[in-house]
Amino acid sequence: MLAPSDGEKCNVVLLGGPGAGKGTQAEKLLEDRRMQHLATGDILRDEVDKGTELGLKAKKYMDKGELVPDDLVVDMVQKRLTDQKGYLFDGFPRTMDQAKALGRVLDLDLVAYIKISKSEAVRRLSSRRVCRDCGRIYNTIFKSPEREGVCDECSGNLYQRDDDKPEVIRDRFATFLDETAPLIDFYRERGLLEEIDGEQQPEEVQAEIESALHQGTG
Ligand code: AMP
Repeated sequence: MLAPSDGEKCNVVLLGGPGAGKGTQAEKLLEDRRMQHLATGDILRDEVDKGTELGLKAKKYMDKGELVPDDLVVDMVQKRLTDQKGYLFDGFPRTMDQAKALGRVLDLDLVAYIKISKSEAVRRLSSRRVCRDCGRIYNTIFKSPEREGVCDECSGNLYQRDDDKPEVIRDRFATFLDETAPLIDFYRERGLLEEIDGEQQPEEVQAEIESALHQGTG
């Protein structure tokens, strides 16, 4: 398989529980690749902020750390599968039905499963801050901005997501184990899965994803 930077289309899924670093790795992968980034959590938060019908429906699930129903999410993703670049799916699919729906519309090249423990997820997410304007991700423990509460990139305001409160993080992790973890075997059986230790340094995680992209997964 060729990496998308070589001019080939390539469809990649970043799979992992909350706090695994999917968003951080997506940022890194997109630095030198022309792929369309589809981060369903970001799209849903945007719908919530805009107060759209979808946003209003989604918010009550998101606030509880539950998944937004499949029909809403699948429809939202399908509407965005419009151009001919490869796709970088970040936070999608998250259920077997979503995976099957995706499989009906395109072929995947790689599913990078970034694995972290629950205690690490709680530690990372409770210290995560996000820029309200550009979405850049910070962490008060190991990636703090130069000025507290202000984005280095665009000077936007940094905030803590409502679902990054410890009690919701635990529910999100349980949701991951119940609904998303079965996808690990589903994709492994199809020869698409590359399992990566998400507790390494972000650069090491990135190097493993890059290497899987260049070599294919078998
Ligand atoms: P994330 O930013 O990926 O952690 O997603 C935040 C929240 O958005 C999740 O806890 C879910 O409530 C919702 N969400 C994001 N992606 C999906 C998806 N593929 N299916 C269902 N709900 C989702």
